[in-house]
Amino acid sequence: MEVTYICQAASDLRPNDDFVLAAERFVIVLDGATEPAGVDSGCVHDVPWLVAHLGANLATVLAQKPAVPLTDALRQGIVATMCDHEGKCDLRNPDSPSSTVAILRCTADAVDYLVLGDSAVVVEHGDAGLTVAHDARTGHLSDYTREGVSRLRNNDEGFWVASNRPDAADKALVGSIPRAAVTRAGLVTDGITRLVERYGRTWLDLLEGMEKYGPRQLVADVRAEELAAPDAYRGKLHDDVTAVFCRF
Ligand SMILES: [Zn+2]
Repeated sequence: MEVTYICQAASDLRPNDDFVLAAERFVIVLDGATEPAGVDSGCVHDVPWLVAHLGANLATVLAQKPAVPLTDALRQGIVATMCDHEGKCDLRNPDSPSSTVAILRCTADAVDYLVLGDSAVVVEHGDAGLTVAHDARTGHLSDYTREGVSRLRNNDEGFWVASNRPDAADKALVGSIPRAAVTRAGLVTDGITRLVERYGRTWLDLLEGMEKYGPRQLVADVRAEELAAPDAYRGKLHDDVTAVFCRF
């Protein structure tokens, strides 16, 4: 598996809440949730701390246990990250820092994937097969007020992310595709999925763009679209972006 990627903050003025880590056999992509101003998260740590610890803990599990089911790896990664707070933080707080998770793993026989939250994994296999693992529920919440999002986080009526609930791992989308059939794959955070959700690209377009011009092309494309219609998007004009391309 050959891996190329870009992971970039929305602005030089803010830290990057996205995180990427690639190894010979796996790729981890995280997108930490930015806390609204004035919210008490119950945690002394910030979002970059969370994604650094969750990413490192997931990598430890995946590196040391090559055959672990990805759901188990995520559960163990969440538990280890909760321990990293070292009792300094109130992990019962519903606004505790959180992150989406996307994992792709290559074994001798299969390509496995896991998605929790609104990042996406796209796997091309066979002549016409394109498997898209994308949980778009954060785009269709019943309530986008601060209190509403807080209530809907890690709730079956809302959406699930990695934070202070190890059982969130059971809510992830997971799958496995025979290794020999897989040709290309991509992992992207929601800063990039808006190319599909809002700007008319297909999932296949994302793979084609990354293969031809590199992952940075998707960032150029999404920034150009955002600047062309700056009022069209609810919330932030630009988001942190991560795009990973895997060639088999
Ligand atoms: Zn903390």
